[in-house]
Amino acid sequence: MEISKLGEFGLIDHVTKDIKLKNSSSIVGVGDDCAVMHYPDTEILITTDMLMEGIHFDLTYITMQELGYKAAMQNISDVFAMNGTPRQMTVSLALGKRFQVEDITAFYKGLRVACDKWNVDIVGGDTTSSFTGLAISITCIGDARKEDIVYRDGAKETDLICVTGNLGAAYMGLQLLEREKTVYYHQIDDINRKIMEAKQAGNDALVKHLQKQGAQAADFQPDFAGKEYLLERQLKPEARGDIIALLREHNIRPTAMMDISDGLSSELLHICNKSHCGCRIYENKIPIDYQTAVMAEELNMNVTTAAMNGGEDYELLFTCSIGDYEKLQDLEDTGIRQIGYITKEAYGARLISRDQQEFEITAQGWNPLQ
Ligand SMILES: [Mg+2]
Repeated sequence: MEISKLGEFGLIDHVTKDIKLKNSSSIVGVGDDCAVMHYPDTEILITTDMLMEGIHFDLTYITMQELGYKAAMQNISDVFAMNGTPRQMTVSLALGKRFQVEDITAFYKGLRVACDKWNVDIVGGDTTSSFTGLAISITCIGDARKEDIVYRDGAKETDLICVTGNLGAAYMGLQLLEREKTVYYHQIDDINRKIMEAKQAGNDALVKHLQKQGAQAADFQPDFAGKEYLLERQLKPEARGDIIALLREHNIRPTAMMDISDGLSSELLHICNKSHCGCRIYENKIPIDYQTAVMAEELNMNVTTAAMNGGEDYELLFTCSIGDYEKLQDLEDTGIRQIGYITKEAYGARLISRDQQEFEITAQGWNPLQ
């Protein structure tokens, strides 16, 4: 259905009509000039993200529903990274002409599945048109007690450095999708070129044959068997609210924390810079999934580089007092790994390789402004 059939207000109504508010801090959601929230005695956390088609996502391999889910999770993850609880979200879209009501409905479906998972209310937003691609702007609001908020600047010398889950898988998923896309377009280009040549030569039978081949190539479904995990990590990331709850339950309060969106190197340097400290992390302690390692080998890439510099894992990186060492050991089977420790600033930020060499950590994280 054409969006113009519903109009802007009709569209907003269509995708938000059955939203029920779940948080007591959400007083009024969609439907008036402003949403109304009530936070009597906590600190309020606000994070905002803008995603542009062609820069942050590629609709040739992510569906609108996956995109909605991922966009929501990215923002929810930032609230968890402050040790907060996400509560509300506003969502704004600028849509090119090619989008239909069904696309927006699918996007909102993904958004709402992610929000329901973490009990977040969608309380507002805007839709407008765009001359080119799709632009998404999401703001997430959360809360935390003042004494619970974890900043980037709290790491101290001798603190332990921990990460959750495993790293580099989302990046490998992206490499896999990019590779299949390139193969796909090469095939189509090749056939189109041959069709042109056959037409010029007046060979109608060959043109027909090639057109049939072209249609088959266009229908081609890449085989991702055995690599599903990498795709899932790239297309359907999960915010680690479970870890935040677990740390709280075990009375572990991180001294500094971030979510890993741009790569471990870049996030580690943020913590070191803000906390005025250095760090040592061990290559052999960085958690890497088997499929990530296999894919890296297939692509002739260094798997540690992928884990250090590939982004979008949305795992948590945090530092803890050394006094929490034993409590953290108990949590090893939940996927929290100690990968190193914080040092004096003068010692710099270094990775210690498997053969005991030290390498300066540099921020090669993903930077859209480069
Ligand atoms: Mg972040």
